[in-house]
Amino acid sequence: MEQDCIFCNIAKGKIESETLYQDGEVIAIRDINPQAPTHLLVIPRAHIPTLDDLTTEQTALAGHLIEIAINLARKEGIASKGYRLAINCGHEGGQLVPHLHIHVLGGRKMSGSLG
Ligand code: 5GP
Ligand code: ZN
Repeated sequence: MEQDCIFCNIAKGKIESETLYQDGEVIAIRDINPQAPTHLLVIPRAHIPTLDDLTTEQTALAGHLIEIAINLARKEGIASKGYRLAINCGHEGGQLVPHLHIHVLGGRKMSGSLG
């Protein structure tokens, strides 16, 4: 299953992407189908399918993902005007790729609606 996972394969360098940041735990890329002028994805290297699969032991990893998202928003120049982080969880949450990721969206006024 992980062999076929898009984000596992991006993290392993088997699928090409514009990498903006990487360390031993995390990789950040530009979304292939951007929904805003800036649309980044912050992805753990570990194959964690959804937010609901995150364990207490992975709380520090979750914090690290958010920290990277914050730093990239600053680097992309969207932090001062504001931006949105989004994590879709499961089918009804609108998650299409079953490997945990944080969307960083900015560069335009986000709609008030989250649905
Ligand atoms: P989800 O709906 O699972 O929260 O979001 C998945 C996101 O991954 C979508 O915004 C989609 O455009 C993006 N995506 C899917 N496949 C690829 C890919 O191969 N490369 C990149 N860079 N983004 C992808
Ligand atoms: Zn994966």
